[in-house]
Amino acid sequence: MSRIRVAIQKSGRLSESSLGLLQSCGLRFAKSKDKLFWYGQDFPVDLLLVRDDDIPRLLLDGVCELGIVGQNIAREVMLERNGGSGLEELRPLQFGGCRLSLAVPEASTASSAKDLDGARIATSYPALTRALLEEQGVSARIVELSGSVEIAPGLGTADAISDLVSTGTTLRANHLRELQELFRSTAALYRSAAPMSEESSTLLDRLLARLDGVLQAQE
Ligand code: ATP
Ligand code: ZN
Repeated sequence: MSRIRVAIQKSGRLSESSLGLLQSCGLRFAKSKDKLFWYGQDFPVDLLLVRDDDIPRLLLDGVCELGIVGQNIAREVMLERNGGSGLEELRPLQFGGCRLSLAVPEASTASSAKDLDGARIATSYPALTRALLEEQGVSARIVELSGSVEIAPGLGTADAISDLVSTGTTLRANHLRELQELFRSTAALYRSAAPMSEESSTLLDRLLARLDGVLQAQE
């Protein structure tokens, strides 16, 4: 009997909604002691609780069949690792909404992305930022940072940033002004584009049917 593994964020902005959504689909889990792997009861779907950044790789490497992660991270990892492909978005979800935006110091005279040609842009999303800027004919010098991107302009290590924004509070606190939205993101359910066994495929269809019922009821 085959089982399906779903990777979700262990603790963070997507955790509660991801778990809640699966539970709304009628899934029940036996929590294991180490809390990383939860065994599915009644329905052969198990959970892997991990850092959100690891989810696309777990799918690409075939460790999990499904994952719930932000489109921002899925796109970034696909661009970095796989020429922009390798994951299939099955369903966009109604949580985890945010935008990847360019921001500049309040005093900057820049009025759009075009004014950042050749500028140093700090970001945790180097591949996605580069690709989105290239679409607009802007060639930037990416300064990759894993966190606290918003302090880079103040430190003089970047001229602008490309970062996730939801309310803009963090930008204002760091005397930055949102220049232009590059990408709108929500959480989504992904699968690896690699083929599945027939049995797993049938199981996935059953899960998606339940999910669609839940998503429709939420609309
Ligand atoms: P982890 O420890 O799992 O790596 P994290 O700190 O990287 O967690 P969170 O801050 O929990 O991640 O954000 C997870 C996802 O939530 C983001 O990748 C993004 O898709 C979404 N998100 C929604 N709003 C925001 C926001 N204001 N800032 C950052 N991410 C947001
Ligand atoms: Zn993360």
